[in-house]
Amino acid sequence: MKSKESVLCPSSRAQKGARLLGIRQEDGRVAILPQPLLINNAFIEEANKHSHAEQQFRFTNKCVESGCKQWTGTRCGVADTIVGVMNDLQTSDELPACAIRPQCRWFKQNGADACKVCPFVITETTSEDWQLNPAEI
Ligand code: SF4
Repeated sequence: MKSKESVLCPSSRAQKGARLLGIRQEDGRVAILPQPLLINNAFIEEANKHSHAEQQFRFTNKCVESGCKQWTGTRCGVADTIVGVMNDLQTSDELPACAIRPQCRWFKQNGADACKVCPFVITETTSEDWQLNPAEI
């Protein structure tokens, strides 16, 4: 019998089993990689040297549902929040080329609306980031 395909979290931590999904650009947006890349311990250590890796990169890993504090019981609370809060951002109608879309928790839950705001999401925000008005990014 074929096993059920994993649903992937697009805003996971830099840890074993994760893959690199996106890289933060100078303008604060995240460039989503067309294909996520496997990372190793050396990458995680290097990325954490100057700041949390999650401030500069986005990672994807298996969605652990009730094992995550963002899980509401039936849905990912982060996806609903970002789509609600960032709804007014000037986003492109063109969705990022993204290989995990068929398995992505946010896309399964919120469809194209999630993909439009996805490049604005930083997993580990800094205090400076919180002072920015997302609408001005
Ligand atoms: S929300 Fe869309 S663009 Fe972002 S990781 Fe999921 S499928 Fe890719």
